[in-house]
Amino acid sequence: MMRLAEVIAEFEPTLLARYEHQLLPSHHRALAALKACRSRFAPQMLATCSGCHAQACLPHSCGHRACPHCQHHEAQVWLQRQLQALVPAT
Ligand SMILES: [Zn+2]
Repeated sequence: MMRLAEVIAEFEPTLLARYEHQLLPSHHRALAALKACRSRFAPQMLATCSGCHAQACLPHSCGHRACPHCQHHEAQVWLQRQLQALVPAT
């Protein structure tokens, strides 16, 4: 399965060539965050297993609200809250 970061890396030059003059700084920040999310380019954290005390360096997620990798759960929780708030009408 192709990661979103790979899709962005492949098509970002074409996107920028065509639309860079229309992109906002927030768009550039989103692209940078999504490209780095949970990759070797992201900041690392040292995780330790509480059972065997094995340690590993793991990449941080980006935390960007548009990221489907690290914000999927929060988006689903938000969606369920919104569905609860719907008026019961057709
Ligand atoms: Zn992310």
